[in-house]
Amino acid sequence: MGIYKEEHDIFRATVKKFIEKEVIPNIEEWEEKEEIPRAFMTKCGEMGFLGMWMDEKYGGLEVGFEYTAVLVEEFGKVNAAMAVVGSSDIIAPYIYDFCTDEMKMKYLPGITSGKMVPAVAMTEPNTGSDLKGVRTSAVSDGDDYIINGQKTFITSGNSCDFVIVVCKTNPDSNSLSNAFSLIIVDDGTPGFIKGRKLNKMGMHMQDTAELFFEDCRVPKTNRIGEEGKGFKYLMAELQKERLIMVMWGQAMAEAMLQMGIDYAKSREAFGQPIATFQHNAFKIADMATQVQLGRSLVNELIIDFIAGNNIVTKVSMAKLYVAEMANDVAAKSFQLHGGYGFMEEYPIARYYRDIRAQTVYAGSSEIMRLVIARSLGIEPT
Ligand SMILES: Cc1cc2nc3c(=O)[nH]c(=O)nc-3n(C[C@H](O)[C@H](O)[C@H](O)COP(=O)(O)OP(=O)(O)OC[C@H]3O[C@@H](n4cnc5c(N)ncnc54)[C@H](O)[C@@H]3O)c2cc1C
Repeated sequence: MGIYKEEHDIFRATVKKFIEKEVIPNIEEWEEKEEIPRAFMTKCGEMGFLGMWMDEKYGGLEVGFEYTAVLVEEFGKVNAAMAVVGSSDIIAPYIYDFCTDEMKMKYLPGITSGKMVPAVAMTEPNTGSDLKGVRTSAVSDGDDYIINGQKTFITSGNSCDFVIVVCKTNPDSNSLSNAFSLIIVDDGTPGFIKGRKLNKMGMHMQDTAELFFEDCRVPKTNRIGEEGKGFKYLMAELQKERLIMVMWGQAMAEAMLQMGIDYAKSREAFGQPIATFQHNAFKIADMATQVQLGRSLVNELIIDFIAGNNIVTKVSMAKLYVAEMANDVAAKSFQLHGGYGFMEEYPIARYYRDIRAQTVYAGSSEIMRLVIARSLGIEPT
């Protein structure tokens, strides 16, 4: 069964054209400035790319996940997927699925128009994979919460207009089922301090920052859903986030394979194209096989997700496989490029750096193995 119909192909052609004109010529500048300009986000909003799946009243187009998949595949190929789906498909669902209509109206139209940039803050200096270790606290004070704590590695942390903060609201519990809540903190709230932009080895166009909360008072109406249910909401939305990460990693692997093939066919050594040395031809054959396996898994997952099936185990397997596979493909494609792979003029240099983070964020490869083992009735210790 295929995923895409004619209307999706037409949409894909529009997306490709947009990327040619608005993304490819600007990537270098975005990487240098370490930011994706607001003007670009609003252009994406005008094109209707942001939160296409949402109701019209929030600025969406009420279309299926196929459209998000097209966006991730096409922006993923040029390694800029996060620019277009980060806010609208990874973060907005927390608001769309669990907030009051008033909150939805406050934030969602801003996201779909590209005028508002959100962030989500789980990770802290002392804890990432293990959310039980979250220390940022939100203490009840009448109709407000007072938030204290620190977050790190937060995507769009510096540029965000608001951030969804994972806070401990039940100091007496350490249980994931009732200790944590998700609370929105708007930029400019006293006590919400944006720290330095972190100096990363890759993904330079994304700003990644530390955030501090010092007696930061926010109304309880800023809480997403019920108190204590934060982890449940995170788990509900993380599956889609992982799927998007998998689709992005797959698109990058496909692009890196093609870069390797193109370069190896055109570069000559010892009087022949380097692709025709059996060692390299077999390396390319291995890469193509790995990438094809990833594509089959990803397409099956997209179909499952659209059908509303539970994808928890399969998406964990795909996240593990694609992240590791794409890193392997990056290394092989890089090696085919010889010294030119190390030069910034060749895109493999940037892809090689950027793909590295895929085995860590949105659930590391080890955490994916943990989820898979548990699904098989094994509790690793
Ligand atoms: C570019 C980038 C963007 C990010 N954006 C965000 C963001 O927007 N918001 C946010 O909240 N976070 C973000 N993160 C943080 C990311 O989610 C964490 O880095 C990730 O969850 C891992 O946490 P950690 O770095 O604390 O590593 P740790 O949890 O300390 O893990 C260290 C190592 O130990 C392994 N490990 C941990 N537990 C186990 C176990 N039980 N069994 C075996 N091995 C284990 C891990 O897999 C890892 O290899 C981002 C990270 C990066 C790199």
